[in-house]
Amino acid sequence: MSKLPTSTDLIHHPYEAPGGFHSVMPGVHKASTVIFENTAALRARQWKDKSGYTYGLHGTPTTFILEERLATLEGGLQTVLAPSGLSAIALVDMALLKAGDEVLIPDNAYGPNKELALHELAAWGITHRFYDPLRADLLADLITPQTRLLWLEAAGSVTLEFPDLIGLLKVARAHPKITVALDNTWGAGLAFSAFELDPGEGLPKGVDVSIHALTKYPSGGADVLMGSVVTRDDALHQQIKLTHMRMGLGVGGNDVEAILRGLPSLPLRYAAHDAATRQVAQWLAQRSEFSQVLHPALPQSPGHAHWAQIGGAAGGLVSVILASRYAREQVDAFVDALKLFKIGYSWGGPVSLAVPYQLKHMRALEGAPQGTLVRLAIGLERVEDLLADLDQALSVLPA
Ligand SMILES: *Cc1c(COP(=O)(O)O)cnc(C)c1O
Repeated sequence: MSKLPTSTDLIHHPYEAPGGFHSVMPGVHKASTVIFENTAALRARQWKDKSGYTYGLHGTPTTFILEERLATLEGGLQTVLAPSGLSAIALVDMALLKAGDEVLIPDNAYGPNKELALHELAAWGITHRFYDPLRADLLADLITPQTRLLWLEAAGSVTLEFPDLIGLLKVARAHPKITVALDNTWGAGLAFSAFELDPGEGLPKGVDVSIHALTKYPSGGADVLMGSVVTRDDALHQQIKLTHMRMGLGVGGNDVEAILRGLPSLPLRYAAHDAATRQVAQWLAQRSEFSQVLHPALPQSPGHAHWAQIGGAAGGLVSVILASRYAREQVDAFVDALKLFKIGYSWGGPVSLAVPYQLKHMRALEGAPQGTLVRLAIGLERVEDLLADLDQALSVLPA
């Protein structure tokens, strides 16, 4: 009787494929367990840098490659990967804040960043203040000896005001204990250089931390969630990496592969989103249904001058505030009448998206925009087709 194979034969198979295989895409390495050569190697394990491998949570060749490419994209030196953009924000908060500290967050920030401060951080004895990102002149008065972290976001998630990044940075740099973190998802490393922003007066250039929801433009597929935290100071990176390790934040090899797949075409896609969105914004600005069209490259959009000061590109988002004569139900009917634009959150994928917002409950500060807003994320469809879709959907609104 011939010998039948055992599970051991199949698990401990002696064949090894030859080395020297090269392809366009890096290999997808997946591991929880990493196998050590011997006990000495196990004891000498080192997860703090990329000199070796320890455990899946601490990196594989595939995650190391993505980390290095993202550091290049953002103009930083080190990267930590997180399971979503929001977890990257939370990681920065957890690494840098402790009970008694205060964090400053722009009033137009990505909503969940504010929610995190209002609920989780508050419960841990960390206070927050929301500030007007267009008014760097008011920031100094909000800073106290407890202020440890300043969040920036350019442009604001829904209302797209472009903050006075240079002015805010200049104020923050007068306080060496304040770390400056930017949510760079909109700019994607391509609209402006986060680590080169120059506050002048011989002050250090750039932000300290840049987080990026890779979910958006780097993925480009609307089918994967991931975030990154890029720094260019080794001590700060180590602090964030330690918290990352203690929190057990990891990413899956297949998800990393999806981001690596999207990355080479990122600049081309970003430019296409940008060009199409400017065309849509110009078209929307001619219509009578809106009291305001929000897009950083439009001269009448809040913060346009701040954008023009540092910017070149403007991403794929444009928001409209509907004229006050329209009831919320009418605005919903406009959004429901869209055919190519789908209703859904996020952006950076091929499909254009629309989301209506009631601004009333979104802001803490007085003087913030009011009314009903529709945010459009422009995908990669032909612009003429998107304009025709907007045109037919707007016909449900009475003039
Ligand atoms: C989407 C987004 C995030 C969060 O990213 P997720 O991967 O969806 O958690 C953070 N900041 C901004 C500006 C975003 O648009």
